Amino acid sequence: MLDYGIAFEPLPASIGVSLVAHEATVSRLGDECNDEQRRRLLPDLIAGRKICCTGSTEPDTGSDPRGIRTRLTETSDGLVLNGRKMWITNVSVCDSVLVTCIDARRGKSGNPVTKVIVERERSPFDARETETIGLRQGYLGECVFADCRIQPENVMETQRGGTEVLKASWAVNRPLFGLVAVNLAQRAYDIALTYAMTRRQFGKPIAAHQLIQKQLSDIVTAITASRLLCYQALSLVDHGQPAAGAAAMAKRFAQTECQNAVFQAMNVLGAMGLSKEARIEQFYRDIRMIPVPDGTNEILALIHGRELTGMEAFRGTAVPA
Ligand SMILES: Cc1cc2nc3c(=O)[nH]c(=O)nc-3n(C[C@H](O)[C@H](O)[C@H](O)COP(=O)(O)OP(=O)(O)OC[C@H]3O[C@@H](n4cnc5c(N)ncnc54)[C@H](O)[C@@H]3O)c2cc1C
Repeated sequence: MLDYGIAFEPLPASIGVSLVAHEATVSRLGDECNDEQRRRLLPDLIAGRKICCTGSTEPDTGSDPRGIRTRLTETSDGLVLNGRKMWITNVSVCDSVLVTCIDARRGKSGNPVTKVIVERERSPFDARETETIGLRQGYLGECVFADCRIQPENVMETQRGGTEVLKASWAVNRPLFGLVAVNLAQRAYDIALTYAMTRRQFGKPIAAHQLIQKQLSDIVTAITASRLLCYQALSLVDHGQPAAGAAAMAKRFAQTECQNAVFQAMNVLGAMGLSKEARIEQFYRDIRMIPVPDGTNEILALIHGRELTGMEAFRGTAVPA
């Protein structure tokens, strides 16, 4: 995963985010599919001939997935899915969505949460893109399942617990999102440095003014520390070490520090930093999107805090004696 992170880091932000959504879904499917599903679904997805995504978030369900309302029910016509998913990366262009839903057939006994893979060709559904401040070249959107027919062979028979599968993919996704932020800050810094070396005020390049040098130093410090935290989290995954806390720390730190770094880089360009022509404004908008997917900054702090203290702050329970 460290090698993957190093190769991933320079990708444009919208492509990186799209890739994380696709590959995390492939890896979740790899964990949750039975042999027949694996043979049928994975080759086209792994080869990139088909695009997939994960649909967890709903209008009333974000950080706390327990409120999911999308339902799989048995009718005289077979299995149907009803519900709405929001803020789904790739949904407008995908061939399939891995949907988390309530399996109404299970009644109240046992865990009713299940996953189905909705193949668009076989189970058409409506999807549309959502206008956002950043990542505007990406494919973030919502979809509606209205009596959407689901083939029984597309219901996942999770071997590992669904939560365990999600946790494993988050340990990788979070530092990858951190590296998206690192790349945006790096590109903003490159523009700021070039500008500072050529722009002259008070008889010399602004790069020769002490406070500009401090800003450049602060930006590089933020980028370097963020990058190393993300690499460290990915390396822990490679070594089979617990990585949840490190991954949460890496994403939150990288996003916060690199967002400040992009702001400072804009500042080095003065008014020019605010222009579309200088291109930093796009990085500023794009990086604003990164705190939310796969754990907001608040949720990541709580995940890290839980690892540090052994106490669950989310639900106010499970505090050891
Ligand atoms: C670019 C992008 C890509 C995304 N891609 C996907 C995708 O592919 N698939 C998918 O299913 N979803 C996706 N999402 C949705 C994302 O996972 C959710 O937006 C996220 O989980 C937060 O949910 P929410 O927006 O409903 O905020 P909420 O959970 O409603 O939170 C609102 C605010 O309250 C805070 N908060 C919540 N609980 C606590 C707490 N216990 N303590 C302190 N503060 C708290 C949050 O940090 C946040 O600031 C994406 C979102 C974005 C922006």
